[in-house]
Amino acid sequence: MTPILEINDLHVVFDTPEGILRAVDGVSLSMNPGDTLGLVGESGCGKTVTAMSILRLIPDPPGRITSGTIKFNGQDIASLPLKELRKIRGAAVGMVFQDPMTALSPLHRIGDQLVEAIRLHDQRIPKNEALALASEWLVKAGIDDPKRCLGEYPFRLSGGQQQRVMIASVLMTNPSLIIADEPTTALDATTQKQVLELMRNIKGDDTALLLITHNMGVVANTCSRIAVMYAGEIVETGNVEEVFHSPGHPYTRALLDAMPSNSRPGERLAAIPGAVPSLLSYPAGCRFHDRCQFVISECNSTHPELKKFENSKTHSTRCLVWINSTAETRLHSKSKTALSTKLPNPDYAAEPVIRSKELHKKFKTVHAVKSLNISLYPGETLGLVGESGCGKTTFARMIAGLETPTKGEIHIDGNQVYSNRSMSVKRDVQMVFQDPFSSLNPRMSVGDIITEGAVFHGIIKRSERISEAARLLNLVGMPPEAAFRYPHEFSGGQRQRISIARAIALQPRVIICDEPVSALDDSVPAQVLNLLVDLQRELNLAYLFITHDIS
Ligand code: SF4
Repeated sequence: MTPILEINDLHVVFDTPEGILRAVDGVSLSMNPGDTLGLVGESGCGKTVTAMSILRLIPDPPGRITSGTIKFNGQDIASLPLKELRKIRGAAVGMVFQDPMTALSPLHRIGDQLVEAIRLHDQRIPKNEALALASEWLVKAGIDDPKRCLGEYPFRLSGGQQQRVMIASVLMTNPSLIIADEPTTALDATTQKQVLELMRNIKGDDTALLLITHNMGVVANTCSRIAVMYAGEIVETGNVEEVFHSPGHPYTRALLDAMPSNSRPGERLAAIPGAVPSLLSYPAGCRFHDRCQFVISECNSTHPELKKFENSKTHSTRCLVWINSTAETRLHSKSKTALSTKLPNPDYAAEPVIRSKELHKKFKTVHAVKSLNISLYPGETLGLVGESGCGKTTFARMIAGLETPTKGEIHIDGNQVYSNRSMSVKRDVQMVFQDPFSSLNPRMSVGDIITEGAVFHGIIKRSERISEAARLLNLVGMPPEAAFRYPHEFSGGQRQRISIARAIALQPRVIICDEPVSALDDSVPAQVLNLLVDLQRELNLAYLFITHDIS
């Protein structure tokens, strides 16, 4: 059988002011018709660049493919004239992106966009037939009222509906390969599941699916094969069953351990220490050696090859140590990060720090929150779980004083509070937001960001800012020099640590964490969640933890 996609020793670099960034460094993979392959790894491992290279979508300059071949249906993509390549893009190979709003035009109705996409690939189809075809695909994609949907602009649809429209628009041209880049990351858990099922069910039997994700759970539910990328190269490949049953690389094992669903309730999560190395200069030896729990001295100098396990035709690893192991020994190997420290004990004898009584919020005709009663005790973490749009964030905003309730009472430390809160009450409740990229002012240094509130509230003097910033950064596990740098210089996980430092600077009683880890890679939430638990124990904080992820 001719593979639908064959990538051989692909190297992609980007020219940057700091030097040449080796984003993809010798990746080889192959997919047959009907295959579902999950390409996983933390941000910055080269997954998306690999996928973009397939359709020559790398911005050139600064990016370029320096060597290697990409064959689609036996045809070398690199040597195809642009005109031929355009025929493949969208028709034979479809792409589903993370944020459907960036892929759908905000100025055109869904119907017009779908009709245009159909007729772009076959001009002979009359408009009314194209519209009927689009409607048919919207139904297949789970849109209940296709007629209404066709007449809407994208912003009038929910995130899940937009992603369904995207999937319909990709599948209606009957592609041989779908490349889906984090297609469900921006969606809540229920919609995520529905969208993944949809992609699996309505793609043709011969359509191959390359799914790029940082979420191991998504791969387990959707794919038959997996390739794990780390620092520009593939470190493990195999069937999903064998890789999940007995991971063949310490990095894969660490990614699996770091999934919150793999920890026991009430215990610390297993986090992967450190971060992905800079793509500007890879370390000598195994690129994972400074984060690996199974490192031996040889790993510091010898760069491992990707090799098949002796007793498997499909399972390969790039590890000097585990290549000689059996599935049985790997299955029973224990990660040393899985500590079993118990979570702090809440003080249920004390007055609740937050109590809401019959809280209501109505926006015109929409009842966002209805009769909500909660009590949150010192040292307690209360998880507020539900799908997007069910009122979690509105409730949290009322507790934080950012929204005025239509009806009901909020008590902080036993005292009822109103919309005109005193400075000290405002200090008591702080928030950590979902998106660490947009919640920090890009023009302020980290030191100024985290101490600004403390100066404003008179907790510290202006002259104490530098020492206070160092103390707060130390509490969240960051070096004091970070105070002089700017948010864009940090990774998502580090930015979330900075957000937490800003929140604790005001010595609050309660922190409202609004989806604080849902925008982060699979390896990072465990670090951030463990940090929150450590701070809770140290500072006797209470958390109202809003999430759509039950695990
Ligand atoms: S080669 Fe060594 S450092 Fe690299 S993953 Fe294997 S044990 Fe760890």
